[in-house]
Amino acid sequence: MLREMVREFAQNEVKPIAKQIDKSGEFPSESVKKMGDLGLMGIPWPEAYGGTGMDLRALVIAIEEIGKVCCSTAATMMAHTSLGTGGIYYFGSEEQKKKYMPELASGRMIGAFGLTEPNAGSDAGNTQTTATLDGNEFVINGQKVFCTNAGYAGLITFTAQYIENGENKGIGAFFVESGTNGLKLSPPEKKMGWKASDTRSIYFEDMRIPKENIIGSPESGFKQFLNTLTSGRITIGALSIGTAMGGYEAALNYSCERSAFGKQISKFQGVSFKLADMATRIEASKHLVYHAAYLKDKGESVIKEAAMAKLFSSESAMQITTDAIQLHGGYGYIHEYDVERFFRDAKILEIGEGTSEIQRIIISREILKSLQKSA
Ligand SMILES: Cc1cc2nc3c(=O)[nH]c(=O)nc-3n(C[C@H](O)[C@H](O)[C@H](O)COP(=O)(O)OP(=O)(O)OC[C@H]3O[C@@H](n4cnc5c(N)ncnc54)[C@H](O)[C@@H]3O)c2cc1C
Repeated sequence: MLREMVREFAQNEVKPIAKQIDKSGEFPSESVKKMGDLGLMGIPWPEAYGGTGMDLRALVIAIEEIGKVCCSTAATMMAHTSLGTGGIYYFGSEEQKKKYMPELASGRMIGAFGLTEPNAGSDAGNTQTTATLDGNEFVINGQKVFCTNAGYAGLITFTAQYIENGENKGIGAFFVESGTNGLKLSPPEKKMGWKASDTRSIYFEDMRIPKENIIGSPESGFKQFLNTLTSGRITIGALSIGTAMGGYEAALNYSCERSAFGKQISKFQGVSFKLADMATRIEASKHLVYHAAYLKDKGESVIKEAAMAKLFSSESAMQITTDAIQLHGGYGYIHEYDVERFFRDAKILEIGEGTSEIQRIIISREILKSLQKSA
């Protein structure tokens, strides 16, 4: 039922404007509002907190369906949910959840998540932003880069080194409401893909936030953010499936319409084998992503499974959208055809929330760890 509802929304409301907002870079505010009305901005959170009361698998389904037609819109909802809201839901105090969850889960407030810094991307532990305790407030100084949704967010969660009485207590997680003095944003980045998704740098200049704006225990903020990223990787897997399907379905249709040498190009084995590989990679991605989401919903640790799902499905999305262009021939290179948009949108999936290289590091570390345990 959820898939049908989201598909109808995506096909009727999102698809018609996807090409236009890719061209203009306009943030999909209207679609975000409609997603909020449909309960799609708070899918995995309990109804008691204003959410839809479903689970991660449901979120995967929704991201996949929206991603099939517009990756920018899906990325906006995905980053808001798994990253922008996840930190508050999983690690926030009851008071913080009561205050912010209904706003976030309804989409009335958009969430963003600032981990990456100019010198702390893959090496996220190299966070330079500082949060210095001064009486009942933290004074924040530093910079975050590439923050999705930042320009439209009502609430931004971020990491910073927690300094108390001159002592560095480790990396903590904090949040700030938009409009706070000392919080500055860059203009939106101009990107290869995800063009209608909002990406900005954030500057904290002697920004003061109440002492209560810390999430979870002071010293475990970094661990919490890494945990949030684990769920986030499953949702990147979902968007990878959607992106891949967008490219694949266009290529499948085109190969049944286009003729060369007197027959449909799909009848050439060289073309049909490509279609077979594309379909197989999508199916395999689904198995990995849905399995990781299922385990996460059961409360199991999914560090390895989430990394595998993200790695395989994002690299598959890149391969499939590349092949989709190839099957369109020269037309695939022209803006009028949707496949070039899916191709541009696919690349970030291999980079955001941990590059493919970082996923391979995580997977190999987990494999070797279990080997050492059993030795
Ligand atoms: C559109 C977009 C949206 C984003 N949204 C967000 C967001 O909302 N919040 C947020 O916090 N961040 C966000 N990011 C940042 C993204 O997560 C980082 O760009 C990514 O983690 C990589 O970090 P980096 O760019 O600093 O690359 P680097 O870490 O500098 O990596 C450069 C290259 O070196 C490789 N490399 C680095 N270390 C190793 C290693 N140990 N072994 C092998 N290879 C290595 C990397 O794989 C990569 O190929 C976004 C980025 C983009 C482009």
